[in-house]
Amino acid sequence: MSIANRIDEVKAGLPQTTRLVAVSKYHPVSALSEAYSAGQRIFGESHVQELVAKYEALPKDVEWHFIGHLQTNKVKYIVPFVSLIHSVDSLRLIEEIDKQAAKVGRVVDCLLEMHIAQEESKFGFSFDEVVQLAKSGSFDKYKNVCIKGVMAMATNTDDDNEVRKEFHRVSDFFAMLKSTYMPSLTELSMGMSGDYKIAIQEGSTLVRVGSYIFGERDYSK
Ligand SMILES: *Cc1c(COP(=O)(O)O)cnc(C)c1O
Repeated sequence: MSIANRIDEVKAGLPQTTRLVAVSKYHPVSALSEAYSAGQRIFGESHVQELVAKYEALPKDVEWHFIGHLQTNKVKYIVPFVSLIHSVDSLRLIEEIDKQAAKVGRVVDCLLEMHIAQEESKFGFSFDEVVQLAKSGSFDKYKNVCIKGVMAMATNTDDDNEVRKEFHRVSDFFAMLKSTYMPSLTELSMGMSGDYKIAIQEGSTLVRVGSYIFGERDYSK
């Protein structure tokens, strides 16, 4: 199947309230152009240098989402154009995004990455940390950062029940956070190639699908 066919297929299965982020990391500009021609406008990348190069190569109506671990010293390169940063995992990072966004006169939309998976290596806030920060009004101090919601990655497992349980917990947490502390939240970013169908059922508004659309990534390049 072609990239265009895959995009059509994934989109056909999405509820109206869920958007597709085509995760194009490690794939060449030609693959992104093919997706663009098929009508795809939201692309997700996880490396700053690669994102900047692709931003320069693709048409300007693309919405660029950053989904990888973001180092504070690289924030300045993406803040002038990025549409949404899914992977905000510390207050220090929010502070830096705020500072750089102020310099270019933007308000940058961000999601709080939640650590829910069983793997130790994954980044993110705990539920308790986010509640404490929300309660104390910490997120309101940053005038050039707008927190739009939360993002999470499930444990990498074939056990669909475990994945569903994890997405369900995040979804419940998101609903509580929105109703109790942060009424303006709108986005729940959950679901990748292997689990996006479960994520949709659990209320995801942004699915991040890479290899199912573009094929396997070649990490040797
Ligand atoms: C790479 C990546 C994806 C896409 O993964 P696939 O399994 O290729 O769909 C989604 N989210 C994040 C945070 C990623 O790093």
